[in-house]
Amino acid sequence: MSAEALPVATTAQVRAYARRLVVRHPRDLAGVLALHALAAVTGLVTPRLLGALVEDVRDGRADVDTTGLAIAAFVIVQGVLTRYAYFASARLGEKVLAELREEFVDRVLALPLSRVERAGTGDLVTRASRDVDTLGTSVRYAMPETLVAIVVAGCTIGALLLTGPLVALPALISVPILWAVTRWYLPRAHGGYLRENESWSQIADGLTETVQGARTVEALGLAERRHARGDADIANSYRAERYTLRLRTVLFPIAELGFVLPVVATLVVGGLLYINGMASLAQVTAATLYAQLLVGPMDTLLSWLDELQLGGASLARLLGVGNVPPDRTPNGRRPEGERLAARDVRYAYRPGRDVLHGVDLDLRPGERLAMVGPSGAGKSTLGRLLAGVDGPRSGTVNLGDDGGVPLVELPLDELRGHVALVTQEHHVFRGTLRENLVMARPGASDADIERVLAAVGWDGPGLSTVVGSGGETLSPAQAQQLALARLVLADPHTLVLDEATSLLDPRAARRLERSLAAVLDGRTVVAIAHRLHTAHDADRVAVVEDGRVTELGTHDELIAANGSYAALWRSWHGG
Ligand code: ADP
Repeated sequence: MSAEALPVATTAQVRAYARRLVVRHPRDLAGVLALHALAAVTGLVTPRLLGALVEDVRDGRADVDTTGLAIAAFVIVQGVLTRYAYFASARLGEKVLAELREEFVDRVLALPLSRVERAGTGDLVTRASRDVDTLGTSVRYAMPETLVAIVVAGCTIGALLLTGPLVALPALISVPILWAVTRWYLPRAHGGYLRENESWSQIADGLTETVQGARTVEALGLAERRHARGDADIANSYRAERYTLRLRTVLFPIAELGFVLPVVATLVVGGLLYINGMASLAQVTAATLYAQLLVGPMDTLLSWLDELQLGGASLARLLGVGNVPPDRTPNGRRPEGERLAARDVRYAYRPGRDVLHGVDLDLRPGERLAMVGPSGAGKSTLGRLLAGVDGPRSGTVNLGDDGGVPLVELPLDELRGHVALVTQEHHVFRGTLRENLVMARPGASDADIERVLAAVGWDGPGLSTVVGSGGETLSPAQAQQLALARLVLADPHTLVLDEATSLLDPRAARRLERSLAAVLDGRTVVAIAHRLHTAHDADRVAVVEDGRVTELGTHDELIAANGSYAALWRSWHGG
């Protein structure tokens, strides 16, 4: 089955989010901007002093030492201010980035499990790694430097105007040029980069398909066609790359011109003004230096434009994860009682292909029900629905007396306190043993945890030991015990065990069997049985065949009925 990519946020969503991002910490932002403005203003004093110095030298009354000392002092002050300004903006950037990451994790954790499975992990992993990195560069460097460049450019233009409106005019010659060229560039670059990314994905897709289906390609003589597809993809990518390259070959030369032009214009026009007695030598000198100072921030702005575009594209992918509609709709209703019932349940992994065809099943609180049947009959699927992992396509899986509440209307953390699915997966998270356990019930005390560990017969390391990758390695049996201890802590009244019998590693089987028994004690259990003796020991047995419950009753009843179960049992007993 091909993966179904997760959605991407719209441009409007990204804009709105970016706007909120910038003003999320207004006080920090104001502080950062003020520091940078102060540093910029300090740096802008030097051209004024130099301008005055030039005039004084001409008039033969220069005090070079004093001016030199003053300039040195301002440079030092500027250096110190700049240091704090960058420190503050880096801190703000990291803060925002950390929040972005946390929000992304929240969004991912809120994703319906079935949707993650359909998307394939590749998509999520790419978003969590590459897109977060790209966005990190934008937030860490591109955003603060852009803000700083805007502040510095604004202050410089202000200083220029203060020097004298007449001498300032020539420097502004580039404003319309730069404005026009960026207006031309940005929308084209946006589409161009999106096409470029897409063309890379296409090449990768085509190659993977060819490699994965190599046997088929060979068997059916499809090599020519695969070649043609590869050539077409590469040609497409080449066109896309050429397009953005062409955009840059227009942008950069014009922009460079836009940087140099003000300096030249200020010098020439300023010279004419000076000759005609309309500006002082100090004014012309200062204005020319300011025009020169503008080059830096303008260059910064332009060079980060691309990066910001890329960051925007990544942000769209990160935010897009939040556009997946939730698969559960908590409505505040609380279930009364522990009765779990499935009514006319149908379920399809793919539209139009039901794998469950109207299943009815009433669990009796406290009973042990074994589910048996051929592989592919729908046992695991039914187990997932009974545990509320997925919602049925039609029909209901309700919990509680008097009709109850649909499992998919319970918030996840509440649902886990009622029903849990136990599979072979038993992940040990990196962290202390305590952290590994307390996640099952936030707020559990050490005493609670110790009690639970004792219940499963824990003989591993202590609560504060760091386990998981990089920490102390737990044996497979200990990892299983840990998973069971988490269950006891979460304390659901109903458990669905899928493949649970193979949970038991033969070497540690005895102890684990005891741990499992402690966990199951007093709970309603649905066991998907792969060994019939589990079924024999159960209170009732449900036979699942082709998406339906075909037989339901005690072991003895089903043997007496002489149906599928009886046949299975006889064949298992070899007679
Ligand atoms: P059992 O547990 O009885 O072996 P399952 O519930 O795993 O049966 O599978 C029931 C049917 O649903 C099978 O036809 C299987 O191919 C299909 N199926 C199971 N999981 C998926 C999935 N993730 N995507 C598509 N089809 C699935």
